[in-house]
Amino acid sequence: MTTSTIPLAERVRQIKASPTLAVDAKAKALKASGADVLNFSVGEPDFDTPEHVRAAGKKAIDDGFTRYTPVPGILELRQAICRRFAEDHGWRYEPDQIEVCCGGKQGLYNMAQALFGPGDEVLVPAPYWVSYPPIVQLAGATPVEVPLDEARDFDLDPAVLARYVTPKTRGIILNSPSNPTGSVFSAATLEAIGKMALEKGWIVISDDIYDTIVYGGEKLPHILDVDPRLGEQTLVLNGVSKSFAMTGWRIGYVAGPKHIIGAMNKIQSQSTSNPSSVAQKAALAAVTGPQDFPRTMRDAFVPRLEYIMQELASIPGVTCVRPKGAFYVFPNFSAYYGKSVDGKTIANSVDMADYLLDRALLATVPGAAFGADPFVRFSFATSMTIIEKGMQRLKEALAKLA
Ligand code: PMP
Ligand code: GLU
Repeated sequence: MTTSTIPLAERVRQIKASPTLAVDAKAKALKASGADVLNFSVGEPDFDTPEHVRAAGKKAIDDGFTRYTPVPGILELRQAICRRFAEDHGWRYEPDQIEVCCGGKQGLYNMAQALFGPGDEVLVPAPYWVSYPPIVQLAGATPVEVPLDEARDFDLDPAVLARYVTPKTRGIILNSPSNPTGSVFSAATLEAIGKMALEKGWIVISDDIYDTIVYGGEKLPHILDVDPRLGEQTLVLNGVSKSFAMTGWRIGYVAGPKHIIGAMNKIQSQSTSNPSSVAQKAALAAVTGPQDFPRTMRDAFVPRLEYIMQELASIPGVTCVRPKGAFYVFPNFSAYYGKSVDGKTIANSVDMADYLLDRALLATVPGAAFGADPFVRFSFATSMTIIEKGMQRLKEALAKLA
């Protein structure tokens, strides 16, 4: 077939395909071709979906629960999500304040489509998760990156934030614990953001997808705990992808003011109609069943985190903020930028990730994809054996650069 000359829409030209999914696909293709690739790229738990959740999915199929569902998701699931929020956080939501969507990613997409448009600016603290800026751009709005400082453990400095606020600012996206840094926002930071949001009438998007994977015992501060009035302008995003190892089932959910959820339902009714009926039944089992699975997973991540931090600390010139949650480390490799091997100079994080993949068969995601070029992301949601081998290869590869 000849290459088509049919022009594509401008919005497609504005964005790149998800780099996390792209590196993962490349790593899997290399592995399938026989290469011994160690995959630290995509962020998904290396656990199977719990047995009782899988059983609920199978039962849904056998019961013939295979038709369209209500657009925002089945009532039973939305009621169960309301109970979860009430039990876990003391937040009161009604089922018509909940939208169940095809993964957290579609929840964000629906929010942006429902709320933002040309001329609007949305504050995105950087390093950010790769999909925030494109999702804002696909709505015609402008993502505005607010730099987070490694020296402050990637907590947001409200004075820095204030410099990026304009009359066009419509909202802010918060992600705590963060992908890619694992950092969390402090109570003082959230207090300052909450005050600004109330004063300016911003939409606050709180992406809490990693809130069950937290290291250290203390309770995570949350923007909704700053001032009850913030409930009127905050959208909380969560889901079962990370907490119940259900990335492929595609179930996320959003809680927020009824009229915004209603607008998001309108978008959903004209795009995906509803998330998979079978996956909703499985998610119902996850949300209503025993809640120890996320903790078991978190406990399994602890020794991996400790090992990886210890290994990174032993590499000359590398710094790495200790993650407080999620399953990523985000080491700073910039001391190696400008160095060369076999006539090739590593100029930036993309070169570094390419070098690690080509020469050490280590799949990672370059910091540039997260708006932070000094860094490279490693997911440690993978086996200890792979981590041990991977850290060895990393050390050898970096030692070759001069
Ligand atoms: N937010 C963040 C920060 C994430 O890392 C992810 C992972 N893909 C998501 C949202 C969305 O997850 P999913 O669409 O798989 O529910
Ligand atoms: N959130 C995961 C990651 O950052 C999954 C891939 C994606 O959806 O971007 O790797």
